[in-house]
Amino acid sequence: MGVWSAAVANSPFCEYELRDATTCGIAAIGRCRTCEQAFCATHQARDIARGSSAIKTYVDWCITCQGRHNDEVRDAATKADYESARRLEDATANLPALVSALTRTAAALVKPRDWTETISKGPGFFSPKLRYTYIAHDEEPAIPVGDFTWRYWFVPHPRDGGSAEWKFATVMTGLTLSGNFVPMDVQEPAWRRTGFEAAYLIPGQEAALYEALEPLLQPFA
Ligand SMILES: [Zn+2]
Ligand SMILES: [Zn+2]
Repeated sequence: MGVWSAAVANSPFCEYELRDATTCGIAAIGRCRTCEQAFCATHQARDIARGSSAIKTYVDWCITCQGRHNDEVRDAATKADYESARRLEDATANLPALVSALTRTAAALVKPRDWTETISKGPGFFSPKLRYTYIAHDEEPAIPVGDFTWRYWFVPHPRDGGSAEWKFATVMTGLTLSGNFVPMDVQEPAWRRTGFEAAYLIPGQEAALYEALEPLLQPFA
């Protein structure tokens, strides 16, 4: 407080620069910690609290420095948006080459995606015991990549009622050697009734896919 009083005493008038390059000149109420200029009540930094009309003033910050700070924050946000858009664009452009490199060299990483479907055939003619048929499905094996989000057309079991609708599922996703992204667990009930072939990876995950795929290639580089 001592320093502040001394400073104001040295320059008791607001030093805010007006448009005509003169200074405001009204009695100062504080001194800015950033630019060290004295400011009056009009040229004091302030915020309106979110969701209310209460005004918060800053005892040691001028309106010029606050404005400059807000500009910097906004520029940084714009730059971050721009950089994430750039990353997505780069990943989208480079993804096919990475996928093709992996499918050519990383065959050792593939995991099976076989599953057995159980179909009830109802009770036997001479015995009330239910009989089942087992159908082996051998889906193309795939390299596990990571959890990614799919959109799929969900058809509820008639027993459960309700209507078909688009749904989202985040599941372990793999890359087949033929270059397709697929869910690793095909037996998952959601895919079973709809067919996972009808599901698709939602766009916007290219950068994350690229980051998950790149390290897989490293041991083969
Ligand atoms: Zn200032
Ligand atoms: Zn002023």
